[in-house]
Amino acid sequence: MTTENKKYQLKGLTVSELREYFETIGESKFRGEQLFNWMYNHLSTDFLEMQNLPKALREKLNEGCSLKTLDLITVQDSVLSGTKKYLFRTEDEKNIESVVIPEKDRSTLCISTQVGCPLDCKFCATGLMGYKRNLTVGEIVDQYFMAAKENGKKSITNIVYMGMGEPLLNFNNTLKSLQIFTTELNTAISRNRITVSTSGIPNKIKELADSEIRVKLALSLHSCFENIRTLIMPINKKYSLAENIEAIKYYVKKTKTRITFEYTMLQGINDREEDVKALAKLCKQLPAKINVIPFNSIAHMAPDGISGELAPTSRNKIYDFVEKLRNNNITVMIRETQGDDIAGACGQLAVKY
Ligand code: SAH
Ligand code: SF4
Repeated sequence: MTTENKKYQLKGLTVSELREYFETIGESKFRGEQLFNWMYNHLSTDFLEMQNLPKALREKLNEGCSLKTLDLITVQDSVLSGTKKYLFRTEDEKNIESVVIPEKDRSTLCISTQVGCPLDCKFCATGLMGYKRNLTVGEIVDQYFMAAKENGKKSITNIVYMGMGEPLLNFNNTLKSLQIFTTELNTAISRNRITVSTSGIPNKIKELADSEIRVKLALSLHSCFENIRTLIMPINKKYSLAENIEAIKYYVKKTKTRITFEYTMLQGINDREEDVKALAKLCKQLPAKINVIPFNSIAHMAPDGISGELAPTSRNKIYDFVEKLRNNNITVMIRETQGDDIAGACGQLAVKY
């Protein structure tokens, strides 16, 4: 263990927690706002440069506290798409990945909420690597602050919780990270530019709806049929699609947003005529749009069983499928694969140990 490990971690604390912290160490509460501003708005990790704090306090903080939860190990650039994959290491030497995806008028950061994932969706590399632990609030938000620092402060316009892990299984830390991003940060990324993606944990979807946090929600749908969904997403056995749809109706009503259904196209599994019909029927029930995702290869994980048999739907078939959905008045986007040359596309994130 390094000395750094023993230091009190301040990254990840909200304004009110920082105010409380300063009070407990006998300082004025308003130092909480000042520190918040330094670490989250100025992206500072160095107490000694915080000129508006008294010198003695700066030194005391420097001695006993830390503002750094992650080390940046490597940045991989995709020559094809401009996508960048960041490999970070936590203090206990776990590796996590985040991805920055530049597009015409925006740049999206895809962040992780867990080291690995406890759910074993058959099409996902993260699921195949297994689960190590939840990320702390500091580690979740630091992916943004470190990528923002590396890319240029205003470079990131959107955040999607679509990296490694299931955000709603790390609910409290995910919620607090959203609070920091959406309600407390001066230069906040606007809340309609943050999306949380879930494989579907109904009680937590409702809890998120009941919180004061307002973000966009995406459900990884992948099939409208319970038996097929269970085959590719075993979590569906515990939390059925029917329960998830009920929770999502609640979310949509409470937050006055529309839901995004993510739909990874798997040959012969969810790209059939009856899938179009079932999607059309589902989308009539609630305000929704569909993000169609071409299946990204997970061959780098050398999977066996059903994972090894999955194949992508062909390009032409995807276009045909999408056209049929649009003919049913459904809003459909095709999420073009970006970064698969650096294993940084959806579902490809996995770190070998
Ligand atoms: N655990 C959350 C968020 C991370 S996964 C969730 O499952 O929603 C982000 C998205 O990538 C999900 O929609 C997931 O289903 C999709 N995905 C996973 N593996 C994929 C792959 N190999 N190809 C394309 N999309 C994939
Ligand atoms: Fe976990 Fe999401 Fe991958 Fe499923 S798709 S294994 S929930 S990260």
